[in-house]
Amino acid sequence: MSDDVLFDRVALIGIGLIGSSLARAMKQFGLARDITCSARSQASRDKALELGLVSRASADAASVAADADLVVLCTPVGTYAGLAAEIAPVLRPGTIVSDVGSVKMAVVQDVAPLLPEGVPFVPAHPIAGTEFSGPESGFAELFRGRWCLLTPPEGTDPVAVEKVAELWRRCGSMVEIMDAARHDRVLAITSHLPHLIAYTIVGTATDLEEDTRSEVIKFSASGFRDFTRIAASDPVMWRDIFLSNREAVLEVIQRFTEDLTALQRAIRRGEGDTLEDLFTRTRAIRRSIVDAKQA
Ligand code: NAP
Repeated sequence: MSDDVLFDRVALIGIGLIGSSLARAMKQFGLARDITCSARSQASRDKALELGLVSRASADAASVAADADLVVLCTPVGTYAGLAAEIAPVLRPGTIVSDVGSVKMAVVQDVAPLLPEGVPFVPAHPIAGTEFSGPESGFAELFRGRWCLLTPPEGTDPVAVEKVAELWRRCGSMVEIMDAARHDRVLAITSHLPHLIAYTIVGTATDLEEDTRSEVIKFSASGFRDFTRIAASDPVMWRDIFLSNREAVLEVIQRFTEDLTALQRAIRRGEGDTLEDLFTRTRAIRRSIVDAKQA
C-alpha cells in the first residue's frame, strides 16, 4: 500500500492511554485526515483538544461516529455493548468498526450482533501498554515493534481487515490474525494471570504490613517493586478483563495453583534439584523474549 492517508475521518470512542496513543501515531504518520473522539469526562475531552489530538471531542459517542469511516472503541471492554448500541443506529454502510480491547471473545459477542448490515467489525488488540491512564499518558511510539492481534469473525470483509491491519502496521506494529478463542487463552497466561498474581502479591504484602507492622514497603526489593508497577494498572480496565475472560483465566489459575503447590512441596522436602531445574528453564525463556526484542 502507498503512503497515502488511510481514513478520512476516524472517531475514537475513549481517549485514554491507548486511544490517545493511536491518535498521536495516526497524526505522526499521516494516517487520517481528521480525528475526533468521545470521552465520558469533560476533563478528558478538554485535555484531548488542548493536546491537539483531535479536532472535536464530544460526550456523545454517536455524534462522532456518525460521519466517521473508522470507529475505534478505546474504552474498558465492559462498556462496549452499551456504546455499540448507542452508535449502531447512526453508522453509515461501509464504516469500519474496530476496538483495542484486551479480551476478544466477549467483545465479538457483545459488539458484532449490534452493528448494521454493511458495517464490518474488525476486533484488534495492540499488545502494548503501560500502567498509566488518560489522554496525557499516551505516546506515538507505544505500538512500535509490538504485536497487534486481529480477531475478525468468520466472513468479515477481507478489505476491511486489511485496512485495519495496514493502520497498525503503519503505527509500527507487527500484525497477526488469530481466532478470538485462541487469543483469549494465550493472553490469559501471558498477561491476565501475571496481572492477577501482581494484584495478589501487592495486596498480601500490604495486609502483612498492617498485621505485623513490618516494613514491607520501605524495604521493598526489586522483585516486589516490579509487581507494584503491574499492580498499579487501571482497576476498572482489569476488573472488566477478568470478568470478560472468565473461563480462560479460571483455567490458567487452576494450572498455576497446581504448579505452585508442587513448588511448595519441593521447598518443604528440600528438593533443590526441582527448584534449580525450573529456574534454569525459566531463565532460558527470558533470554528468548529478549532475543525476540519483546523485553
Ligand atoms: P484509560 O487510559 O483508562 O482510558 C479509558 C477511556 O475510556 C477514557 O477516555 C475514559 O473516559 C473512557 N471511558 C471509561 N469508562 C467509560 C464509560 N463507562 N463510558 C464511556 N467512556 C468511558 O484506558 P486504556 O488503558 O486506554 O484502555 C482502553 C482499552 O484498551 C481497554 O479496553 C483495554 O483493555 C485496552 N488495552 C489497554 C492496554 C493497557 O496497557 N492500558 C493495552 C492494550 C489494550 P474518561 O477519561 O472521560 O473517564
